[in-house]
Amino acid sequence: MPKKLVNEFSWSVSRHQLFISCPKAYYYNHYGSWGGWEADADEKTRKLYILKNIRPMVTWIGSIIHDLIKDTLTAYSRGEAVFPTADELKEKALQAMRSGWRDSVNQVWKQYPKKTNLFELYYGDGKHVPKEETDAIKERVLECVDNFANSAVVRTIKSVPFLNWKPIDTLDTFQIDDLKVWCAVDFAYTDPDGVLHIIDWKTGSEKKDALRFQLGCYALYALEKWFTPIEKIAPHGVFLYDGAHMSDFSVDAALLVSVKDQILTSAQAMKAKLKDVANNVAEEEDFPCNPNEYNCRSCNFREVCPAVNGSL
Ligand code: SF4
Repeated sequence: MPKKLVNEFSWSVSRHQLFISCPKAYYYNHYGSWGGWEADADEKTRKLYILKNIRPMVTWIGSIIHDLIKDTLTAYSRGEAVFPTADELKEKALQAMRSGWRDSVNQVWKQYPKKTNLFELYYGDGKHVPKEETDAIKERVLECVDNFANSAVVRTIKSVPFLNWKPIDTLDTFQIDDLKVWCAVDFAYTDPDGVLHIIDWKTGSEKKDALRFQLGCYALYALEKWFTPIEKIAPHGVFLYDGAHMSDFSVDAALLVSVKDQILTSAQAMKAKLKDVANNVAEEEDFPCNPNEYNCRSCNFREVCPAVNGSL
């Protein structure tokens, strides 16, 4: 019998964002839904696990594009394929969208909660989303894929020997003191001058401060995992829906100290809410709702949340 997974405390950028936006949603996502994949999970845990895995269309297409880029670069690096054309990539993206849409409409997620479960369908009529919304999403995917395929950064990547590529979009952890931090660098390579370029593909619009923080985390990862000197780290955001334009960031010791500090402060605030820090045990009543129109309108947990359902 496989060993049960243990809910260990760890930190990630997305966890931090959820914690500061709404403690209740954070509790549901990281504690209440834990174990919801097990066959013997109780009804509430299973429900929270299903809700946790809901994705709004805009996040869903972000994953489709990231997966497509990852698969394309991986196959290319293994010599399994010539680099596909923009049209071939667009067709693959559309296939992934059709398959995810079918899974969501057919509610395959009831049995397999990791399968696509779109927010707009779950909290809509389950079958339809207004045509202008689906058209806009499709247009965004095709535009992003087209911009990726024809971008200067892809031309550069193709000119870099594979030996100078880092593992592609691989979820990994690193330590800050005794804290485990999760991150997945989309793509990174070393140029002939020994500079490590870290690429973060973005399918949304640019939010400079959030991106600086995220890229600062990747720089800490590069420092710890790849022993890259600070002055040789060059992070970039690539905005695929905006002509694949590249936003360059610089890294210095002061930025890394500040990012490290923010991570530790954030983790400390999360731990301060726990009933039992050593065993990462949380109680729902210690995580209040933070209702506001912006948070709740797009919150996965609105179906069960007492703030939205009038029980507060
Ligand atoms: S519906 Fe609003 S208050 Fe409730 S968990 Fe979600 S964000 Fe928080």
